[in-house]
Amino acid sequence: MVIGGQVIRVAIFNMVTPQIFIFLGRVGSGKGTQAELLVKKLGLIYIGSGESLRARAQTADFTGQKTNATMKTGELVPTSLIFMLWINRLEEIKKSQDNDFNGVIFDGSPRKMIEAQLLEEALKWYEWDKNIKVLLIDISRQEAFNRLTKRRICQGCGQLIPYVGHYKNIEKCDKCGGELEVRADDTPEAINLRLDLYEQEVQLVVEFYEKKGLLISINGEQSIEDVQKEILENI
Ligand SMILES: [Zn+2]
Repeated sequence: MVIGGQVIRVAIFNMVTPQIFIFLGRVGSGKGTQAELLVKKLGLIYIGSGESLRARAQTADFTGQKTNATMKTGELVPTSLIFMLWINRLEEIKKSQDNDFNGVIFDGSPRKMIEAQLLEEALKWYEWDKNIKVLLIDISRQEAFNRLTKRRICQGCGQLIPYVGHYKNIEKCDKCGGELEVRADDTPEAINLRLDLYEQEVQLVVEFYEKKGLLISINGEQSIEDVQKEILENI
């Protein structure tokens, strides 16, 4: 920049605004798969709450042990803990970010209004609030129920076989040839409980982002490839 014949050097930080993606959807919608695909495609940093919690549960302190015990019962851990994990992660990213930093993807969070509000504050604090997109991978409750009661797990390698597209008809694991079985915890009662939780909590989060004009709704009742195509056309 030249002002009055004097050259003034202006340091420009954050030349690229990182993109923040938040993936929401019913259990069984395939949002995790889609989040992973987008991470690879755009070179994003992945933040999944399940993953962060599992890592935290391995630390041998009070919170580590209690997280471990709570996760085994299937109960939700408190929002304050989730938030602490987010902050630690975002701080780490802030410290290490370089020119290759394209953005962050939140997979399956926030799941409650209070989490949505806290995440909003955190993103503002770290100055990553200018480029947020929320993707709802939309499938009906009935479709979610069908997918979850019919999805299978390989007894050999543990691969989860979704009840979508060509996977519906495979009889053996496509990776190791192992036997496929319906998962023991995929009972109709347990699945209905998780779907109820979506109506009660996550639906409000979806509406929150919709009112802010950040929501992009994607038809999740298509093949994995077509869902990805629709996402890439809309972001
Ligand atoms: Zn297998």
